[in-house]
Amino acid sequence: MSCNKELTYQELYQWGMDRLRQRDIQEAGLEARLLLEWCCGTDRNTLLVHGDRKISAEEYSRYQACIAKRTSHMPLQYITGEQEFMGLTFTVNKDVLIPRQDTEILVEEAMRYLHDGMRILDMCTGSGCILISLLHYSNDCMGVGVDLSREALQVARENGERILGQIKEAECEAVCSTEETRRKVSWICSNLFEQLDFVEKFDMIVSNPPYIRTSVIETLMPEVREYEPRSALDGAEDGLYFYREIIAQGGRYLNNEGMLFVEIGYDQGEDVRALMEEAGYEEIEIVKDFAGLDRVVHGVLWR
Ligand code: GLN
Repeated sequence: MSCNKELTYQELYQWGMDRLRQRDIQEAGLEARLLLEWCCGTDRNTLLVHGDRKISAEEYSRYQACIAKRTSHMPLQYITGEQEFMGLTFTVNKDVLIPRQDTEILVEEAMRYLHDGMRILDMCTGSGCILISLLHYSNDCMGVGVDLSREALQVARENGERILGQIKEAECEAVCSTEETRRKVSWICSNLFEQLDFVEKFDMIVSNPPYIRTSVIETLMPEVREYEPRSALDGAEDGLYFYREIIAQGGRYLNNEGMLFVEIGYDQGEDVRALMEEAGYEEIEIVKDFAGLDRVVHGVLWR
């Protein structure tokens, strides 16, 4: 397609879908539509109701560029720069892992135990999706998000400002969202707990750390393997490196009766349970995801 004369919305969509199909992109129809809506600022109805709408030269070239990126396996979310998580829209880029639906299980489980005024630590926060969701859906809680990557923290900070700042505006009609956000959440660049010595203790630690075995990374789909940050995926030789560190060191940063919640891979439940038992955690539970696979482990630390 070199010329966009007379091209309609429906035809452009059809072209995009065909291109994605040819390159074996799964859900080609859905992704072609979402990208088209993003390029044209339209919504789902447009295809149904206004399929004969003519497209402009800008829309046409924007869509072509998007389809080219997607056929080279760049994830849709890195093209559009956003991902929904817990009903909130998070900004994402190549510096952060794209928030996964499975991780909502971790957030929902943590919310069952979250009380007003608690302090939460999110270790390996990435886009900040876990911590920001917990703070958004609770009252008067305060959180610290930690990541080794400064670039990731920049994304988390931006998400915090946008999502948590809004609460203040809606509730109090105040303009000081930055002030409010600062009171609610802070972001620390640190290799695990290294820079946390002078931070007050927490009631809850949550973490979705990198947990894929190094040898498995090369077998993942190109969208993940070639585009998502390696440092957000790689859990070292046996995939358990971060659990060992977080479970062994985390206790020092927890108040009495503090809880630890970690997301895990489907086959890591028993290993992580054993590590938590060894570190003195009690009431350990393994929670399954909607596919019936082990997804979250949590426990309490009494002193
Ligand atoms: N906590 C972030 C998330 O769940 C990032 C996780 C990671 O980088 N491993 O999306």
